[in-house]
Amino acid sequence: MICKNCGNKIPEGTEVCPNCGYDQKVEKEKKCKKYGKLSIVFGILGVTFSILIMAVMVMAGEEGTAWSALGIASIFLIPGIIFGSLGLKKYKEANLENEKIKKTCMIGIVVCCAIFIALFTWGAIGAIAEETENSASNGSSHFNLNFHMNF
Ligand SMILES: [Zn+2]
Repeated sequence: MICKNCGNKIPEGTEVCPNCGYDQKVEKEKKCKKYGKLSIVFGILGVTFSILIMAVMVMAGEEGTAWSALGIASIFLIPGIIFGSLGLKKYKEANLENEKIKKTCMIGIVVCCAIFIALFTWGAIGAIAEETENSASNGSSHFNLNFHMNF
């Protein structure tokens, strides 16, 4: 590997550069921190865009709002979850001991998953409600049909 500070070649897995004394863990911490922050940013983007889509669709009187919001949010939530997981993976690999970085990655993952689950639950509840409504109206039409035939 190459030292990020002085650019000299150093043996793989070296923690402190023998040439300049630079702590290689600092680089790894920076990387994990970046992944964690990206995860949170994508989570926030997911929320923002799903709210925007919902607002536009509700104003336009469109149906299936939750699924559309979920679709748009997924574009951001899936990378968010991936970045958070990558951050945690790198954190573990480098044996880092910075709780703040670990928490950043975990918060990112939790936020992304929570939004995903919330939108999915909302969509599923809407679909179930529609289904029962449809079957209820189908039931009554059958009833009417039978009633007419008997009559
Ligand atoms: Zn160095």
